[in-house]
Amino acid sequence: MTEQKKTKESWIVEGEETFYKTYNRFPVVFERGQGLYLYDTEGEEYLDFYAGIAVNALGYGDPEYTEHIRAQAEKLLHVSNYFYNTPSIEAGKKLTAVSGMDKVFFTNSGTEAVEGAIKIARRYAYNKTGKQDHEIIAMKNSFHGRSTGALAVTGNDHYQEPFQPLMPGIRFAHFNDLDSVRDLFCEKTCGVILETIQGEGGIYPATREFLEGVRALCDQYDALLIFDEIQCGMGRTGEMFAWQHYGIKPDVMTVAKALGNGVPVGAFLACGPAASAMVPGDHGTTYGGNPFVCAAASKVLDIFQSRKLTAHVKEVGEYLWEQLEEIAGSYGEITGHRGMGLMQGLEFSVPVGRIVSNALLEQKLVLISAGTDIIRFVPPLVIEKEDVDEMVKRLTAAIVSGRSWN
Ligand SMILES: *Cc1c(COP(=O)(O)O)cnc(C)c1O
Repeated sequence: MTEQKKTKESWIVEGEETFYKTYNRFPVVFERGQGLYLYDTEGEEYLDFYAGIAVNALGYGDPEYTEHIRAQAEKLLHVSNYFYNTPSIEAGKKLTAVSGMDKVFFTNSGTEAVEGAIKIARRYAYNKTGKQDHEIIAMKNSFHGRSTGALAVTGNDHYQEPFQPLMPGIRFAHFNDLDSVRDLFCEKTCGVILETIQGEGGIYPATREFLEGVRALCDQYDALLIFDEIQCGMGRTGEMFAWQHYGIKPDVMTVAKALGNGVPVGAFLACGPAASAMVPGDHGTTYGGNPFVCAAASKVLDIFQSRKLTAHVKEVGEYLWEQLEEIAGSYGEITGHRGMGLMQGLEFSVPVGRIVSNALLEQKLVLISAGTDIIRFVPPLVIEKEDVDEMVKRLTAAIVSGRSWN
């Protein structure tokens, strides 16, 4: 008796019956990946310019990475943070070295890294004053995660409203508007959190004047500057961390997404006095920093060095920029082009949902939007120029066939 292969449709029905519905998913069931291509249950091949939301920096099935995590899986997965383990010490040394930070704490996700960063800022101020009235300045149009602390600093009413009241003591300024930050600063301010390049909000890089000004305000008030580098960090912009383009160093930073290349691992890092603000008992995690995820992070950091990935990103990123500029010039509906390295966005005067789904379903190109009218390009960092050409071909076809404005 031969068992019939389950169809995509039946997988989707079962998925919808099972999952708590907080997503409207695309009707594609992915089964495996190789290089820059994903394959679904129907055997269809898709070019990936999305990398699982800026996660799969090395693409799929990288042999060196895969062999390393396979070997670690056989050796040791987890021991808890009551003991030392060698992969986390190695990963920690490499991550502090490339970031110039003094200390690291490994988390399971981005949102948890943000939680830790918020706790450092509060703890730092509490250590000085013993008061519990400290405020954090966050940015409108930002994204820092879905846990309630990270949500409290996420400047998006739509995400926040159903879950109020959230953590108190958060005030929102406008990104790249220094006066709006200065207006909120006061003796109670213990930290400022911002994305060096706003990702979900639509690929908005910070201006140098803004970062310099916020740095100066934090110094003046002895508040901590927190950069969320979860999306824009880990080589995506052509430097290991986006703030390194500006030469403006934070006191605390968060990383996740590409750090594990698909194995869930994040981190918060701190330098100077912020690096010792919390003490034993203040923070913890069961899984965070376990040998398995840290072996992945450690290998990712090695590969960045050995393959000179940041230099590669600079080069291919420039090429992507040129190609997208050309597209932007060819369609009147494209009203903006922003970003750095392999984190770029095209802004349209119309919603892009239709283009993105046409690209995916007809052209077999995986892309995502940021907001409703921006297409975001956050491909694996190992793409080559000819992959950009292939993407452009498919994107152009998707734009043409998806032009609801004709
Ligand atoms: C994705 C993201 C987060 C949240 O990370 P999760 O791993 O989904 O919790 C936080 N900040 C930024 C800038 C992000 O892009």
